[in-house]
Amino acid sequence: APPVIELVDPATGEPWDQIPVMDPAAVEAAISGAAAAFDSWSTTTVEARLDPLRRLATLLRDEVDEHALLISREMGKPIAEARGEVLKCALACDYYAENAEQFLAPALVETNAKRSWVGYEPIGLVLAIMPWNFPYWQVLRFAVPALTAGNGGLLKHAANVTGSALAIEGLFRRAGYPEGLLTTLVIDDHALVPPVIADPRVAAVTLTGSERAGAAVAAAAGTALKKTVLELGGSDPFIILADADLDAVVPFAVQSRFVNAGQSCLCAKRLIVEDAIYDEVLERIVPLVAALRVGNPLDPSTQIGPLAKEAFVDDIERQVSTTLSEGARLLVGGERMDQAGNYYAPTVLGDVTREMTAFREETFGPVLPVVRARDAVHAVELANDTAYGLAASIWTSDVDRGIALGQQIRSGALFVNSVPASDARMPFGGIKNSGYGRELSREGLLEFTNVRTNWIA
Ligand code: NDP
Repeated sequence: APPVIELVDPATGEPWDQIPVMDPAAVEAAISGAAAAFDSWSTTTVEARLDPLRRLATLLRDEVDEHALLISREMGKPIAEARGEVLKCALACDYYAENAEQFLAPALVETNAKRSWVGYEPIGLVLAIMPWNFPYWQVLRFAVPALTAGNGGLLKHAANVTGSALAIEGLFRRAGYPEGLLTTLVIDDHALVPPVIADPRVAAVTLTGSERAGAAVAAAAGTALKKTVLELGGSDPFIILADADLDAVVPFAVQSRFVNAGQSCLCAKRLIVEDAIYDEVLERIVPLVAALRVGNPLDPSTQIGPLAKEAFVDDIERQVSTTLSEGARLLVGGERMDQAGNYYAPTVLGDVTREMTAFREETFGPVLPVVRARDAVHAVELANDTAYGLAASIWTSDVDRGIALGQQIRSGALFVNSVPASDARMPFGGIKNSGYGRELSREGLLEFTNVRTNWIA
């Protein structure tokens, strides 16, 4: 039998679908189809590119239930969050439909030439290697600006969300983009990726995922002299200062950690609390975490679904048990749940210190490590004691002080009194091991353009 990708329901552990993988000839046909589509698309005006974009937004809204169901089934996200994800994709379409012409307009520059300007031209096919945690949003966040800038896209999605990949490809086709302009490469053998990167028809690569995948893909891209954008992990600090309004903050801390069962690069992965309110924060947070409704992702009242893959439960189990053996206190949860599917109980670990595993490693699951800070300066020092630098949040009633302290934290984004989240209007990306380059906003759109000097004497 030809090789297939087997889709496994994370809520039950049962296989529910099989999708045949592409052989090398099919991969070649996909690349040449995308290259042909790019040739005509790249010569269209920006205005003409906005028609399919607007239809894409309409399709996403009209079909939200169907796509949300697919997301929930494939990777276990609670259905209410899955709906939110699909609608957020539509918002990103709206944003670029409204702003792309202005963002891509040639910028006149005064020089000693008769006329000189900077043009923002397409670069070619962009290979997108994307993860399963936001299977629609991660792809649209790349594809909407990249295609609006006149490029084509090759999508190598995470194997466990291949159904989503094909559904997204169908959405772009039905929206009226040229056939093949966004093409899924259904491959699960990583060895097949470097030849695609090296292919002269591929201009650049964008990857969201683990550091290991990012390093491997960036190495292949370096060999082939191709540009990369990398959006990797994070271990975002969520700092609660002593003057914060705890009634408001504590529910946000829970939300910021447990969204998507903790499987977001942007989650609050280290809760850093000033000494004066540390005990009170723990007392308030534990009952909220204990009350989170864990269950079937298709049940609209579920707040925490299963983890996306079985192996992730093992990873979390190891990180929690190691952190406990290093001296942390278990306050709630701390075990895999005794039922079918990839369920891990929402967990709070108290008295976590900077040497411990849950502080040093990214935890990609429903586990909240709480760290005591002597004072605000110590909180900032702890926040910076990480290999990552995606986002940071600070909670305080003194906003100016929050900004001043936040400026001392090294990260791609700072949020004061707000849960970190991506927004199409603002750039998104990290520093340090969280990666480089930006997505969304004008900055993200320009990442995959040829910023071209035009000098007319
Ligand atoms: P991976 O980084 O392995 O997967 C992300 C994507 O990269 C998938 O499409 C995967 O394909 C692909 N990939 C992985 N390795 C290679 C390679 N060598 N060459 C080409 N493509 C590759 O993440 P996992 O799903 O294994 O999750 C592991 C950890 O990664 C998480 O626990 C978390 O720490 C981090 N992560 C971070 C995300 C973020 O949003 N920044 C998202 C997801 C994970 P395939 O599925 O076929 O293996």
